[in-house]
Amino acid sequence: MEKINEVWVSPIGLKSIGTINGMPLYTSDKLKAKFVQGFRESTVSSYIENLESLIEQEVITPCFGTKSLFRYFIIRNLVKGGMTTLAFYSPKTNKIYFLMDNNATSLGIVPNQEIGETTVHEFVHYFAENNSSKFITMFAHKLGLYYSCVFNIMLNARVSVKDGYEIGKYLFKNGEKNSTLTFEEIAILLRKYVKPTSTLTEDEFKNTINGFLNAIYLFFNDDPRCLRKPYYFFHWCFEQGFKRSFGLNVGWKICYQEAVFPSEIICSISHLPLVRTKIISAMKTID
Ligand SMILES: [Zn+2]
Repeated sequence: MEKINEVWVSPIGLKSIGTINGMPLYTSDKLKAKFVQGFRESTVSSYIENLESLIEQEVITPCFGTKSLFRYFIIRNLVKGGMTTLAFYSPKTNKIYFLMDNNATSLGIVPNQEIGETTVHEFVHYFAENNSSKFITMFAHKLGLYYSCVFNIMLNARVSVKDGYEIGKYLFKNGEKNSTLTFEEIAILLRKYVKPTSTLTEDEFKNTINGFLNAIYLFFNDDPRCLRKPYYFFHWCFEQGFKRSFGLNVGWKICYQEAVFPSEIICSISHLPLVRTKIISAMKTID
């Protein structure tokens, strides 16, 4: 019975902690205690030593939300298969919310490992936002590896890790930090760093880029066609990036955010041994 040690909290005694985008969130001391306990029983427990004080400072708040929240935050956040948990980092409030659903069907049971990994995932977003220059230098090689891999597959090219990093750095600065990134800029970026080593003809290159930009457009407009033919290919490239660069099978995760938000790549591999030391030292700077 694996579920015996998992977190279950009764929805009784909940206090409102206000609303995010008009939707109410609730927490309780019991929920906070259970959340800490779940985190401590996960394999990433040692990653964040001061979790209690971060909860105290409301950097992270474990809470219950309403079902409608799950739809709203689906794009920018990690959603696991059963959709029983969802955490998100809001750059607007600079806070992390960890939602534990309390509807009757799921019984509010959340596996400890999921609490651990999801919490670390969101703290890496927090770190990327609050320590941008540290983030981009610390994970330069991983970002370079990932983006060179993805675009080499997509555009049949031989982009170096160094140029892959230049792509990641540009996306981080203009897509993730400033939100000024345009489709045209993405096309120019790829033409600069990928076209020189691509074996595609001019027409093939142009058509592939157009298809890719369409796929991202559909994704950010919540259009499920981004996961169907002919666009599925682009999702597959981002998924393969995880597999070939880090040996990670992402399962059901939708991988289009990575096209614009580089921190998502590091968040998604944050539980892997290959970045353990770096993630722990990044987490130490959060206080
Ligand atoms: Zn994320």
